[in-house]
Amino acid sequence: MPICRKKNHQVNFLNGFPYQELRANGSNHKKLTYNFRSYKLSKTHKLMPPITEKTASKISLEGIKEKVESNIRLTREDGLVLFASNDIPLIASLATLVRRRKAKPGNENFVWWNTNLHLNPTNICIANCSFCAFARKPKEEGAYTMSIEEATERAINGYKLGATEVHIVGGLNPKAALPYYSELLKSIKKEVPALHIKAFTAVEIAFFAKLTKLDYMQVLKTLKDAGLDSMPGGGAEIFAKSVRDETCPDKIAAEEWLEIHGIAHSLGLRSNATMLAGIGENQADRLDHMLLLRDQQDKSHQNNNAGFQTFIPLSCHYEETDIANLVEPITGMDQIKNIAISRLMLDNFDHVKAYWIQLGQKIAQIALHFGADDVDGTVVDEKITNAAGAEKKGTQSEILQKLIRDAGYEPVERDTLYNIIQR
Ligand code: SF4
Repeated sequence: MPICRKKNHQVNFLNGFPYQELRANGSNHKKLTYNFRSYKLSKTHKLMPPITEKTASKISLEGIKEKVESNIRLTREDGLVLFASNDIPLIASLATLVRRRKAKPGNENFVWWNTNLHLNPTNICIANCSFCAFARKPKEEGAYTMSIEEATERAINGYKLGATEVHIVGGLNPKAALPYYSELLKSIKKEVPALHIKAFTAVEIAFFAKLTKLDYMQVLKTLKDAGLDSMPGGGAEIFAKSVRDETCPDKIAAEEWLEIHGIAHSLGLRSNATMLAGIGENQADRLDHMLLLRDQQDKSHQNNNAGFQTFIPLSCHYEETDIANLVEPITGMDQIKNIAISRLMLDNFDHVKAYWIQLGQKIAQIALHFGADDVDGTVVDEKITNAAGAEKKGTQSEILQKLIRDAGYEPVERDTLYNIIQR
């Protein structure tokens, strides 16, 4: 596995924040040396210029607060100061302010959830992502590929149980690529036309394009014609090249991931965007990930195209993965900060999701007071995260609604496009 190539690499690191940047932000913390057995942390990456003493000295939390209150876009330097700050009550209040401002009048107390079905038609994958416990090689025990009939049957059953959306993602399997999925989408649409199909990460789209020698536009048009309604946000992981090279070297680069979503938006397909924290990135990597998404959203909006709906900060689950014991696990505070700071930085995203399957119910509940306004759904089948040890699947809608109510918000069932569902 790619992560095991380098041994005893040492980096200067404090709670995910490069020491130099902490100093630039005026931190008095002592320098720590973190000994990664085999993990190469991303060094100062080249996507954005680093913060300097000069710029950092001009930034205060009070200045950031004034900007947020005046609805002025935050800069990268502002984001780094927020990540370095432990003024959690202030960060929570600012994120909540933005969350309420983003809601339509009267909906400020809403927390969205949906009744959805996850369908993973194949777990066979040619890629080697060190944080993945889901994928299997073709002859490995547990490898599977559903027949079109079986996958369609599952979608029909989910619909009968009340699902309004089927979320389809799978491994990169040459035997279950564009022809297979075109057939599957047509089959689902024929049987349950009202079921919204949200499917395929940008990584899968690029894989289909490579196999068929079609371009991204052609692949997306083919799938749209077959029944694709929108795209999920997976495969983004962390955009920083150094982290990608170590953890998911077979995946497309950030630029391609963003390009594919831009093309989907131009075809009228809405999409989401994720970020997978806890895979060896630093806080600047997370921030730059958000900023690249913000730029892409600006581009899509400037062209009057559909855009991203929701940002979904995820946390790595380490059980049964190659990355387990090799990275500093993400903490609850990291998870909360990722939610809040993304709400503050992504001023052109309507929603931030506290994905309860990944975060766990307790952190998801707390995240609702840090800018999140969505918890995802009932999730009839969630193989990918469950393979890596997340909480038990299949929470009933009543439990999800109670979770939201107990946090002081009003649970509102939505469809994929945030229309209210009345049952
Ligand atoms: S994360 Fe996706 S692409 Fe990577 S190994 Fe797992 S299934 Fe394959």
